[in-house]
Amino acid sequence: MLNTLNQPQSSALSDKLLHFTKDFETYIQDLKNILQKPKSWDISFVDFDETLYSRIPQFKKDKRFVECRWQAWIDLVYKEIWRDIFLKDYYNPDWVVKDVLSRTDVILTAGIDDLQRWKLEHSGIDKEALVVAEHKQKPKAVLKYVLKSLKSIPENITFIDDKAFDLSEEFRLLSDILQTKIILENIYLDSEKPTEVDHIDKKIFEKWKELVLS
Ligand SMILES: [Mg+2]
Repeated sequence: MLNTLNQPQSSALSDKLLHFTKDFETYIQDLKNILQKPKSWDISFVDFDETLYSRIPQFKKDKRFVECRWQAWIDLVYKEIWRDIFLKDYYNPDWVVKDVLSRTDVILTAGIDDLQRWKLEHSGIDKEALVVAEHKQKPKAVLKYVLKSLKSIPENITFIDDKAFDLSEEFRLLSDILQTKIILENIYLDSEKPTEVDHIDKKIFEKWKELVLS
C-alpha cells in the first residue's frame, strides 16, 4: 500500500522547534548555519531493546521479567538477580540481531544510562550510544545530535525502533525543520528466532509529504 498525504502549511521555524525544546533560541542559529551547507552522508539511529536485542528469551526463562514494571523491575534486576548476573546471563554477543547491527551508526536507547551502556558492552556492541530517560525524548536527541555533533544535515536519517511509529508526528516535524528525508522503520523481531527480524513497517517523511509503506 502506498499513500501520499499532504501535510499542513509549515509555520515559523521557532514554533516548530518549540515542540522539541523550550530553549529553542540556542538551536536557531545552529539550524540557520547548517541549512546553508551541502547535505552530508546518511545516518541511522537504532534502538537497543527489542530492536538490536530481543527480550523474549528473558521472558521465557523467568516470568518475573513479564510481571515486573518500572521500580519493581529495577529492584528485581538490582536486588534479586543482581546486575552482574543479569548482564552475564542475558546479554550475550551471540544474541544480537546482526542484520540490524550491520545497519547501525548510532545507538539511541531509552532507560537507565549506566544499565543501557553495560547491556551494550556485554552484548559486544561497540558503537556510539546516546541514552535518554524516556522514549519520547528520542526525536529531540536526533535533532541535538545533528546540530551539535554532525554540524551538517544528512541526506537521509533512518530511525529503527520497535516503537518508531509512536513518534511519527515528532519525526514528521523534524523532517520539516531539517528539510531532509527521515525514514522510520518500525521493527518486529521474530518471537521464535530472536536474532532474526520478522518484518519491518516503514514510513518516509520527505518535506511535506508522508509515504506509508506496509
Ligand atoms: Mg525498544
